[in-house]
Amino acid sequence: MAMAATGAIFLDRDGVINENRPDHVKTWEEFEWLPGVLTSIQRLSQTGLPIFIITNQAIISRGLAAETTVQDIHARMITTIEQAGGHIDRAYYCPHDLHERCECRKPKPGMLKQAAQEFGIDLTRSFLVGDSWSDIEAGLAVGTSSILVMTGRGRNQGNLAKLLTQSAVRMGAACDLADATTMILSALDGEPMMMTTPRLRRAFHMALSPNELTVL
Ligand SMILES: [Mg+2]
Ligand SMILES: [Zn+2]
Repeated sequence: MAMAATGAIFLDRDGVINENRPDHVKTWEEFEWLPGVLTSIQRLSQTGLPIFIITNQAIISRGLAAETTVQDIHARMITTIEQAGGHIDRAYYCPHDLHERCECRKPKPGMLKQAAQEFGIDLTRSFLVGDSWSDIEAGLAVGTSSILVMTGRGRNQGNLAKLLTQSAVRMGAACDLADATTMILSALDGEPMMMTTPRLRRAFHMALSPNELTVL
């Protein structure tokens, strides 16, 4: 009997792991860790599941950064993660721009499919964390549990409303990667996937008007 394929954890980069810069992360000096990320990846690593980065880096196609620079940023990022007790199995990036119509640029799920093929991953048993709707779409296309975080571009509340009104199973919203990690760990423990975390609900009860609260 073939060994059952394992699930994996897929993390978007900009806006999940590091600050999303409107002018893009073009050098290691511009790579700014978001709070709690190293601890979160260390906790996720303890699940024993493979962890992948999947990131759109059209700056390569646009000539804003050399491909080797992006690879160097990923090598340094992974070294820092490992020094903090975590691991990343591979950092996948799409170097293309929108007009190139590739299969890897999210919202297309090409990078997820590639990892599934290369590492024998069952995507339907996998988790994805992203700050953009295109991340969520990529996950939905291949059946991962998909978590939208409010860091980076996730501060756009339209996306949160969109997610919450879809009421699809295995979609959730969390404050940041630490909060998403709690969500993933509880789902791996056999709990039903939460749609929102207590931290997110508290944050929104404080920040939203009564009108907006009815969305939640
Ligand atoms: Mg992002
Ligand atoms: Zn691509």
